[in-house]
Amino acid sequence: MDPCIFCSIIEGDIPSHSIYEDKDTMAFLDVNPISPGHTLVIPKHHCSKLNELPPQDVVSLTKTIHSLIGPIERALGANATTIAFNNGIEAGQEVPHVHCHIIPRFPQDGGRSIHSLLEKPQPPLTKLSTIAESIKNLM
Ligand SMILES: [Zn+2]
Repeated sequence: MDPCIFCSIIEGDIPSHSIYEDKDTMAFLDVNPISPGHTLVIPKHHCSKLNELPPQDVVSLTKTIHSLIGPIERALGANATTIAFNNGIEAGQEVPHVHCHIIPRFPQDGGRSIHSLLEKPQPPLTKLSTIAESIKNLM
């Protein structure tokens, strides 16, 4: 099996435009940016999905994401960012190593909100309480 491309970046075997690194996390520019400054933030612990990442790594990852938003926005002159995880293949995750996208956003950049991801009809409001209960029952 091929090594994970993000683990190879962490090891320095694949070069990256790194912008931050500490003992638990790393951030670098996406090589397929959809906006100038499009950044990926990853845990060093290899894990496919966010919900499978150990809680202490989630804390480290979140702190790094939080610390990078301001500098990224200021560096690119952006007043906003879209911050997102594609969590699993069906969600569009292409590299099976948890990564957060920080995407600087600009007026008239042509992008839309996260609510524009799906075009299928939303579940009817009458189903929301059933859905909420089914989630709560599994926690
Ligand atoms: Zn990996």
